[in-house]
Amino acid sequence: MSIAIPFDNTYARLPNRFYSKLRPTPVAEPRIFAVNEALANDLNVDLTGMDPAKVFSGNALPDNADPLAQAYAGHQFGGWNPQLGDGRAILLGEVIGRDGVRRDVQLKGSGPTPYSRNGDGRAWLGPVLREYVVSEAMHAMGIPTTRALAAVTTGQPVIRERPLPGSVLTRVAQSHIRVGTFQFFAARQDTDALRDLTGYVIQRHYPDAETPLDLLKQVAARQAELIAKWMGVGFIHGVMNTDNCQIAGETIDYGPCAFMDDYHPMQVFSSIDHYGRYAYAKQPDIAAWNLAQFATALLPLMPDRDAAIEDFTEAVNGFAPIFAEHWQTLFLQKIGITNMQDGDVQMIHDLLDLMTQQEADFTNTFRGLITDTATEQFAEPNPFEAWAKLWRDRIKSEPDPEKVMRLANPAIIPRNHRTEDMIQAAIQGDKAPFDRLMNALATPFDDTDHNLTKPPKPDQVVTQTFCG
Ligand code: AMP
Ligand code: MG
Ligand code: MG
Repeated sequence: MSIAIPFDNTYARLPNRFYSKLRPTPVAEPRIFAVNEALANDLNVDLTGMDPAKVFSGNALPDNADPLAQAYAGHQFGGWNPQLGDGRAILLGEVIGRDGVRRDVQLKGSGPTPYSRNGDGRAWLGPVLREYVVSEAMHAMGIPTTRALAAVTTGQPVIRERPLPGSVLTRVAQSHIRVGTFQFFAARQDTDALRDLTGYVIQRHYPDAETPLDLLKQVAARQAELIAKWMGVGFIHGVMNTDNCQIAGETIDYGPCAFMDDYHPMQVFSSIDHYGRYAYAKQPDIAAWNLAQFATALLPLMPDRDAAIEDFTEAVNGFAPIFAEHWQTLFLQKIGITNMQDGDVQMIHDLLDLMTQQEADFTNTFRGLITDTATEQFAEPNPFEAWAKLWRDRIKSEPDPEKVMRLANPAIIPRNHRTEDMIQAAIQGDKAPFDRLMNALATPFDDTDHNLTKPPKPDQVVTQTFCG
């Protein structure tokens, strides 16, 4: 096999206790479902030199791959688990893209590892395609995220409640280092490993940081921007455990994620989120909670721990104002405002309150402001019309509100019912809905495919999402 992926692996050179080295488990009959050719090109991955189905299933190992499963721990729904790790994922190696950024290439669903616990190490086609479509849509909307390089079917069933078609996703990320990776070593009081990891992360992701405190502050700032962007498109991650909080600041782990149709701040979709811990409006507080766990994991690096606590606490508390700033800027743009005046933020809250009361569609209300069709989202139009009158007066003094709104309000998001329909079709061997979604979601700020902008009809509403 020729060298088709220009691997340059650094994580594999970290000490042994950071991972377990092992190869993916081959599958029966690998077939390509989708390959992201544009991303392959950006990563200098040459698809002509190898059999993509074999490489992206793990059946063949490209030259210079150094496959491993990463060790990590994490808080899951607030409960501590000292031993998680890649239970169904294998890092093949790292590549440096045309943009000069180093990225991981990882197979997800590639067979059991020492971290699998009771799991089978596999994934089925539904969650793989959900992650493929949603992560690529997030990227197109300008939201930091892991990417999808390929999806293959394995020809082997995966048993969940019933047999389902097995699949492997090739995921690309700035790295797969999480808050939980730091927690893993902190919990073991392995200060040497913690120091190695911190140095590694600073060099790879935060070259300006000089101290663990700098790192904490910079990670907090990236999380604040990321979560604000989620809020701006009605995204609910669904499982913001510390092992799903990526240090480089990308959205990671599209398990039971969802997009809101009707706006409600307390919306929850995940079937396992019984108490609404990860509800839409709780996401910023949870991000801060995760950062507090990150701070706690970094503290053993400080020679004078007691003296450091105050600075670390302040850095964690710094998340809220940075988030608020991003949220305000973004939501003001959503209503066409770039020069903030007194009363503007209240205007956003007033609109969101009306949307909550009347279960207005989040995406179409904001998008409808551009075309004067937002009223359609309100069963009782008068309160909205009263708001809109004040708003129209307000944006008269803005230079180009329409342009600002067009770039802040996507027309097309991966609506849950469309994603579910796409999955059901794919199981039946029909790839057309996948292609249609991917095509429309590639340009989310253009409203070309009007059918995909429609909210679900009552019988199409998806009320629950699952981890898979
Ligand atoms: P997640 O909920 O996807 O963030 O996964 C939490 C942990 O469960 C991670 O350690 C995963 O590797 C592991 N895991 C999830 N699904 C499986 C599976 N099917 N087989 C083995 N491990 C799994
Ligand atoms: Mg995870
Ligand atoms: Mg509605």
